[in-house]
This record gives sequence, C-alpha cells and structure tokens, in this order.
Amino acid sequence: MPGKARLSAPVVLADRFYMSEKALADISSLGGYLWAEAKDGNDLADKIGGSPSVKVIVSEYVPVNLQLLSCAPGLKGVIAYGAGYDHIDANALSRKGIKVCNCRGENAQAVAELAFGLLLSLLRRIHRADPWVRTGDWVKAGRALPEWASGQEIWKKTLGIIGLGQIGARVVRIAKGFEMKIFGYDPFIKPELYDRMGVEPASLAELLSRADVVTLHVPLSKATEKLLDSHALALVKPGMIMVNTSRGKLIEEGALIEALQTGRIKGAALDVFATEPLPSGHPLTRLENVVLSPHMGALSQEAGDRLSDSVARQVRDILEGRPPECLIA
Ligand code: NAD
Repeated sequence: MPGKARLSAPVVLADRFYMSEKALADISSLGGYLWAEAKDGNDLADKIGGSPSVKVIVSEYVPVNLQLLSCAPGLKGVIAYGAGYDHIDANALSRKGIKVCNCRGENAQAVAELAFGLLLSLLRRIHRADPWVRTGDWVKAGRALPEWASGQEIWKKTLGIIGLGQIGARVVRIAKGFEMKIFGYDPFIKPELYDRMGVEPASLAELLSRADVVTLHVPLSKATEKLLDSHALALVKPGMIMVNTSRGKLIEEGALIEALQTGRIKGAALDVFATEPLPSGHPLTRLENVVLSPHMGALSQEAGDRLSDSVARQVRDILEGRPPECLIA
C-alpha cells in the first residue's frame, strides 16, 4: 500500500549518479526534480509513497518494476541512466503504457577505452608494477626486475568480441589500431555490418576457440545470463585472456575462477561481477592473474556530461508526450 507521499516533483532521480549542472537546470525548468537516494526498489516505492506528481523516474541501479507503479500513479516514463537496463522491467512497464528508455551510446567510448585500459594493465602488469615502485621494492631489487615485469603485447593478436552494438563497435575501432584480427559474435546485427566494420563473423564456439582475447559487450537478460558457463569456458583457446566490462552474471563466475586457477584462462580484466560491490576476500581478489575495477567503465567526465544531456532531453520528450530518443519499450 502506498504510504505518505514524500517525493512530489515530476522527476525523481532514484539513486546517486552524476548529473551536470546544465542538465539539472534543464530539468528544473521542466518542473523540477528530487534525489531519492533509494537503497533498493522498496525504498524507492516508500519514498515516492503514492505521489501522483512523479512522472519520470531515472535510475542507474535501483530496480523499477510493476510493483512501483502502485506507488507512482502518475508515472509516464522510466529512464535507465546508462546503457544497461537489466534493473528495469521494460516489457511489463511498457504494457502499462510507461515509456522505458536508456541512454545508449553516450558512454560507449568510455567503456571501450576502459576495456583496453584493463587489458593493457593486465598484459603489461601495470597494476603490479605501480605499488612495487611506490613501496620501494624497485630500490631493493636494483636493475634486475622480477620475471612478472615481462608482459605480453596485444599487437596482431586475435580478438573475439561478443556483442557488436555501441560499445562493441568502438572496441573494433580501437583494436584496429593494434592491428588485431577480429572475430565477432552477434546474431542480431545485419550481416553486412561485419564487412563494414572489418570483423569476421563467428559462432560463439568458434570465437572462443580461436581468440587470444575475448571481450564481452552484450546486455544481461534471461537469454544471456551465464552465456559463458562452464561448458563454454571449456572451449576457450588455452591461455586466453578474458575481458568483461559488461555484466558479471554473463559469466559463470565459479567456472571462470577455476579456469584462472588452472591457467586454462591465463588472465582476466574485470570491471563487473556477479555480486557488486565485490565482497572483500572474494576468491577473485586473491588471484594475481586478474585486474579488477569497481564497475567504473562508464565513468569518464565526458560520458557523464553526454549522459546528463541525454537524460534531460528524454525527460523533456516524456513530459511533452513525444517518444524519447532511446526508447526501449
Ligand atoms: P548495445 O545494445 O548497443 O549493444 C549490445 C549488443 O549485444 C547488440 O548489438 C545486440 O545485438 C548484442 N546481443 C544481444 N544479445 C546477444 C547474444 N545473446 N549474443 C550476442 N550478442 C548479443 O549496448 P552497449 O551500449 O554496447 O552496451 C552493452 C552492455 O554493456 C550494456 O547492456 C551494459 O550491460 C554494459 N555496460 C557496462 C558499463 C560499465 O560501466 N562497465 C557501462 C555501459 C554499459
């Protein structure tokens, strides 16, 4: 049952994410906004508490589903802050006439660049070298550097890209600078796009068995959860490197850890995890052949400004009754 109405602006920003001053000023001019800083979907429902004035919810991680509708009877649209929208029940909300959109493309370059940043760090051991220098181990070792300091190049290696959408396409462009041979697996794009991008189409099994580096850029859904399960991981080329900046649940994490421990997978560069924040003491944190970052793929200043503008434009579209530019459902 809806509780006491608390948030009574047309736009509710569900969790805490970056919004530029310009975009917030634009939204203010459309009637105003309030930050809910909700912990989860129940908290958000409680904070909206039946207010009919809430028309648009913007959420980065807080789940938005049909249950929330009873607490937001005036809702017209839901905007996923970012590209991923696995926290929003888009189909169910759309059947109730709610417009659901994301901000696709706006953070694609930031994620693609982080994928290569993590990969380069992993292969050239930058993540190990930096603390080694800072803590004085270099002074102790002198000129003779430890064996781990000798890394691997990515030049002319074979890259397998799973998902050739906004981020995957940008990964292709960066990979070309390293003269990588590129295989792609994405059954949903037009076949002519492979040629246009200079990517060789492959089945998932073929890609896994031939690529030196595999990088994931598909959305998380019921169909893609554990896309790389223990059976798929058994197919990889021995010594393969895994990069995941998409969603942790795309990979069966236990099977990945086992493959990293046996060396079947030589290393992993991971920005996303099955459970976030990654619990301290998690087995991944004890492996030396992984580089970890805290789901920060989208967090460039430039992407933040583009995302903010996209949110403001789509808030305007929804409030003025037009279909938002990145309508999902
Ligand atoms: P996109 O929608 O542009 O591209 C996704 C591509 O995946 C599409 O081309 C689609 O056809 C393909 N696809 C869907 N199901 C597939 C399947 N079963 N097998 C192979 N391909 C499949 O999305 P995007 O902007 O490129 O983002 C991709 C994902 O990256 C997002 O859904 C999100 O989960 C993740 N992401 C992570 C961060 C981060 O901070 N680490 C930031 C942004 C996005």
